[in-house]
This record gives sequence, structure tokens and C-alpha cells, in this order.
Amino acid sequence: DDWAAAVAAVRRLPADARVLLICHVNPDGDALGSMLGFGLGLRRSGVRRLQATFPGPPEVPEPFRWLPGLDLLVPAVEAYPDPDLVVCFDAASESRLGELVDRLDTAGEALVLDHHASNTGFGRIHLVDPRAAATSVVAEELLARLDVPLDADTATCLYVALTTDTGSFRFEATTPAVHQLAARLLATGIRPGDISRRVFDTRPFGAVRLFGEVLGRARLDRAAAAGRGLVWTYATLDDLARHEQQPYVLESLIDSVRCTAEADVACVLKQVGVDEWAVSMRSKGAVDVSRVAIALGGGGHRFAAGFTGRGGAQEVLGRIRAELDGALTGS
Ligand code: 5GP
Ligand code: MN
Ligand code: MN
Repeated sequence: DDWAAAVAAVRRLPADARVLLICHVNPDGDALGSMLGFGLGLRRSGVRRLQATFPGPPEVPEPFRWLPGLDLLVPAVEAYPDPDLVVCFDAASESRLGELVDRLDTAGEALVLDHHASNTGFGRIHLVDPRAAATSVVAEELLARLDVPLDADTATCLYVALTTDTGSFRFEATTPAVHQLAARLLATGIRPGDISRRVFDTRPFGAVRLFGEVLGRARLDRAAAAGRGLVWTYATLDDLARHEQQPYVLESLIDSVRCTAEADVACVLKQVGVDEWAVSMRSKGAVDVSRVAIALGGGGHRFAAGFTGRGGAQEVLGRIRAELDGALTGS
């Protein structure tokens, strides 16, 4: 099966093999954490020529700039053009791999670790588990099957991945297995309080003021999603510039919006260019937002999905409203 193929692909690597680890564009905690955690494990097991990278500008978002294993990272332009093995983390489709997508063909072997139900099946060996709470769950299982023991650095990366993708163990995918994995990670001696503070609770004061302004313009549309309600807001590049903030601070904005009791669906439009918006969507259950995202060119999970929308904010929102009614689960 694919697990056996994945183990064999790593085990048969010669000592001088070049291994390239890649993850999705605009990497989040799961993309970076699963990739770097796995990379640190591979390095300890003897892989010497090892690079990790992601498409786009080579900047790691501030909340992750302290992770163990950052020294594995190289800019995408410097990544091995034809590695012996490429391992891809947390990407649902090739479109999430930007300029690195060619490595799936140029590499000697292409291994895909992911947990998106919408995964398109790209690559050659597929470790894709839609029930897994995070890609790091899959990465840890592969490390275990490779007999690579956990150490504190690997555990730190995998713990960041697990907590970011489960909303700190709040989301539906938080199974007993997730808590058992968390227990194994914590048993290495890592400090969850320190990690959570660095990842979730450390932002510049300007970000607090920016949130105040952006949340102040949130709107509640009770009729949307066949009466189940939509709450939404948007943040422009000008908002970021005025508050002197980096785009990463807006990643958690959706969490402040989606707590709205009167809406089943929450939506945040983050401007990324002229007439270009990175859209985040969340659902409380009645609506499958991945259906909306896929219909509009993106992807994701049932309760958390996104896409890039073009046009004015109202225009993009109009397209979302039009898709919402048809995305009721069971319809
Ligand atoms: P977030 O709203 O946190 O950026 O993304 C939530 C989920 O939606 C992610 O886990 C990812 O699977 C998916 N997602 C977000 N943006 C995009 C996108 O532009 N394209 C695709 N295919 N998926 C996205
Ligand atoms: Mn991700
Ligand atoms: Mn993920």
C-alpha cells in the first residue's frame, strides 16, 4: 500500500540523496510545522542533503519565526531542481505549489502528505487522510513507521501544526488519537504554554488597533445561506499600511468574526492586490464551505475553506452569497 511505498521510498535513499520538502504557498502552522518537524526527523535519521521550501517570497510569518528547523529552509529559487525525493506537505492541489509544482515531475519520487478531502491526488505516493486533524498527524505516523523517535524539536514543530489546525483542540477533528498524539509530543518535555503564547498570543499593538477597525465594519446578513446567516468583513492593503502591519496578522481575524451566534457562515476578505482578495470562510455545520470555495476556484475542508477572488469586495461577496444557498449539507 501507500504507507509501505512511502517507507520504502525513504529507506532506499542512498546516503548522498537530495531530499526536497515543500509545502503550500502562504504557509500556515500545519504546512511549516509538519514540514520542518518531518525534516528534523529525517536529518536525525541520517539524510544529509536536505532542503525545505515553499513557493512565493521566502518569508516565514512572524509567529513561526522561532521554530526549530528553520535552518532547513532555502528560498524556492535555490531549491534542488531535480531532487531524488520530493515530499509535499498540507497542499490540497498542485495550484497551491506555485513555481515548485514542476518538482513533482523532476523528482525521482514524489510523496504527498495531506489531510484535505479535496486533495486532487497529484504526486505518486499518497498519504492523504481526510480524517486527520492536521498534516502533522500523517507526518508523525510516517516518522514512527520509519523508526525515527520524537525529540523535543520535532515535537515542537508537530505540536504547532496540531494546535493551529485544530484551533487548539476545539474543532471537530479533535479525536482521541489527536490527544494521544499531543500526549506523545508533550512527553518530550516541550512547554505548551510557551508555544501557544508565541504562536497565538503575541501580536504588535498595531494589530489590535487594526482588528478594532476591521471588526467595526463587520456586517451580519441574516437572510444569507438560506436564512442561516452570514457574517463578514474585509481588510484592505491600505488598512494594513495605515496600521503598519504585515498580512499575517489578519490570519486570525476570521476567529474573531466567526463567533457571531446569529450566523452559520463567516467570511473574511483580505485584499492581496488590486481587485484581488484572499477569502477565508468558516461554517458551523449547516453549510459545506469547501463546496463554495471549490466552486469559486479554491478548496479546503467542510468547516474551513478559502479561495482567491477577483473584482471588488462586494462583487466577490455577491458570488459567495450566490453559492451559499446551494452548499447546505444534505442538499
Ligand atoms: P484559511 O482561511 O485559514 O486561510 O484557510 C482555511 C482552509 O481553506 C485551508 O486549510 C485551506 O485548505 C483552504 N484554502 C484557503 N485558501 C485557499 C485557496 O486559495 N485555495 C485552496 N485550494 N484552498 C484554500
Ligand atoms: Mn494549511
Ligand atoms: Mn492542514
